[in-house]
Amino acid sequence: MDLRELLMNELNPILDPTIINMAPSQFIAEYGGNLSKVGIVAKPPSGRVYYNSSTAPKDPVYGNFLNEFVKISSDIFDVYAVVNTLLDNYMAMDSKYASVKSGGENSTTHICPSEITINYLTKILEEIAQYQIKGVILAGNTFINRNYCFCDNCKAEFSQISGVPSSFDFNRIKIDSELQSKWKIWRADKLSNMVTTLVEHLKEVNNKLEVYSEIYLEPAVNYTENMELDYGQSIELLSRVTKILFNIHPWTPILPELNSREYTKLISSITGIESFKRGEVKPALLYFNVTEDEELNMIKSISSKISAEAIYTYNGYLMEYNQLRENHINL
Ligand SMILES: [Zn+2]
Repeated sequence: MDLRELLMNELNPILDPTIINMAPSQFIAEYGGNLSKVGIVAKPPSGRVYYNSSTAPKDPVYGNFLNEFVKISSDIFDVYAVVNTLLDNYMAMDSKYASVKSGGENSTTHICPSEITINYLTKILEEIAQYQIKGVILAGNTFINRNYCFCDNCKAEFSQISGVPSSFDFNRIKIDSELQSKWKIWRADKLSNMVTTLVEHLKEVNNKLEVYSEIYLEPAVNYTENMELDYGQSIELLSRVTKILFNIHPWTPILPELNSREYTKLISSITGIESFKRGEVKPALLYFNVTEDEELNMIKSISSKISAEAIYTYNGYLMEYNQLRENHINL
């Protein structure tokens, strides 16, 4: 959809330079008048960053996008740096970092929330926190699906706390409900501990930063019902350390019709959460790509129903979207 129309409807763009294909000055000249908040991708799924990093590899074309954008704009709009954490194709090529599927196959897209990963991400976030930004959106901090992560470290750790021999795979977990609930808790803790550490390091550099965790609200896993089992994301744990950005229907990009059963399920999966029920904190929403008016109206309706504080959109899909989609809905 035309970006100007989205801006007029108070949707906030998240800019990935490879999707918008414009220099910062060009973008600001064209759309700046309608902007108030903007997300700038600092670390995309490719793992090749869009800022001047001495830790991560730089994107060969857009390696200075964030620096250039904030230089022009940081006193005009609120800039949020979007950082993909575990979704990192570059680091996934290194088997020390790669997340591993049950049965032993290395992921080509995701890394494991292990100690070396946390150290790597910490350095990156310390660099990003130096920029004149309002906040950071931690994106892609999730397991791919319930078949991850079975790397040697994860297996050894879980074997130690559960007593199951370290040669186990997901088939062993699936048949034992007690083991499965231990597994769910352990994974959710592992992920939220990673996020907690990252937030601590961000705040050490700049304690005013607002930090968001992206959470997938995906119908293929029944929204919050299997969110922990599949993605390892616990809203309760994550909302203690960050604000929440719900990515609505990320891998099933068709929104339910107004007041349909699916719509009610989607809304109640958010309004049923304790911390949002009390209305003390308001979540923000993300929808990857708004293609037509009907979708725009649906997203706005969901937003007003749950009193969201802001809506973001990439106005496009992530690189390699189809592969990510297949993996995340476990086809
Ligand atoms: Zn692992």
